[in-house]
Amino acid sequence: MDKQDTLAFDKQHLWHPYSSFTNPTPVFDVVRAEGVYLELGDGRKVIDGMSSWWCAIHGYNHPVLNEAIHQQLDKMAHVMFGGLTHQPAVELGKRLISILPQNLNRIFYADSGSVSVEVAMKMAIQYWYSKGLSNKNRFATVRGGYHGDTTGPMSVCDPVNGMHHMFRSILPEYYFVDRPVAATDDYFDISEMNQLRSVFEKHHAEIAAFIIEPILQGAGGMRFMAPQYVLECRKLCDEFDILMICDEIATGFGRTGSMLAIDQVGIVPDLLCLGKALTGGYMSFAATIASSEIANIISESEAGTFMHGPTFMGNPLACSVACASFDLLHAIDWRTNVIRIETQLKKGLLPLKNESKVADVRVKGAVGVLELKENVDMKTLQPWLLGQGVWLRPFGKLLYTMPPYIINNDEIDKITKVIAQAVQ
Ligand SMILES: *Cc1c(COP(=O)(O)O)cnc(C)c1O
Repeated sequence: MDKQDTLAFDKQHLWHPYSSFTNPTPVFDVVRAEGVYLELGDGRKVIDGMSSWWCAIHGYNHPVLNEAIHQQLDKMAHVMFGGLTHQPAVELGKRLISILPQNLNRIFYADSGSVSVEVAMKMAIQYWYSKGLSNKNRFATVRGGYHGDTTGPMSVCDPVNGMHHMFRSILPEYYFVDRPVAATDDYFDISEMNQLRSVFEKHHAEIAAFIIEPILQGAGGMRFMAPQYVLECRKLCDEFDILMICDEIATGFGRTGSMLAIDQVGIVPDLLCLGKALTGGYMSFAATIASSEIANIISESEAGTFMHGPTFMGNPLACSVACASFDLLHAIDWRTNVIRIETQLKKGLLPLKNESKVADVRVKGAVGVLELKENVDMKTLQPWLLGQGVWLRPFGKLLYTMPPYIINNDEIDKITKVIAQAVQ
């Protein structure tokens, strides 16, 4: 098929994320991707400022990751995980344990981030059920969060962004507190905890778990929060006997400057979700990790088993490439690179704070965000950005970048210059 056919068929028949058939935003075809560059059907090569939504931390077409998949492919692409196991699953497990707090050590492999959040929510409910507290089956969270698009995660996504009113008939109504104001510990005021405390005081008997994206709320608004806030959430969960779920699907693997965002807080959640960059952006894969206490209580219950088991659980190709991605992270010295990217993003973006169209600029780790005063016009902005040689995917009032860790400083400068031009 030539390029015209590709785009025409796509427009007629393929849904895209958050897309409309009758009022579509532009879609561009990619024929290759290499390093930090995407090559479009019309021959243009553009710098990828998105890491394909947090995933492609090592860039594209990486020889080491390719090789890991090739090697595994020649042994087996997939076998069921019910009653069978394999070395890639075990090897990945060892690597996960090596970056997790000691007590988080029971790993459930899931096929996507949303599923891993579903699994965490089900584990929380089954944990309390096993303890004879079947009414402890609701959730609390922070406004502005994003936890995935399937029904369970949707119920804890921001009620406005998540369009809860459209799904009222199937979404349970859970407890939401205002998002924290403090983005750094300098600004944190303990009175920020009052709302959560009062929700817990009133409803702890029915709340199974509190779920939060620690340090950085991603797709719900790209906002950072003070580590102290996350720490105080942990304390309140302990005080009121509520489990804490940390959704690190976006923040995991170094993005905010530490391997896990919780490393900046020093807490241990009861359940933790990883995904996105887990496979270096090669395949859809995720994991839910539970504390041994939760796993054991569920296991000793009347059902005796945790009731979830996806067909593609523990997929060997995904596990192999995830292992290779882990090893590569250490080999490239991810920490040095993330700090370098942070410095360079700050240099390019912070001076834009005073632009008339800009409401806020925030940079942390390998994430740079411009919040504008008005919504961006995707239909004109996106093609313009591509014309300038960078791939960014703005949404709402946000123009932001989270590039692959292999990006060099000139390429970062190119991204920040284009962003600057866009708002000037
Ligand atoms: C992307 C994301 C999810 C959902 O993951 P999918 O793989 O898209 O299902 C959940 N939580 C967070 C924080 C995310 O960024």
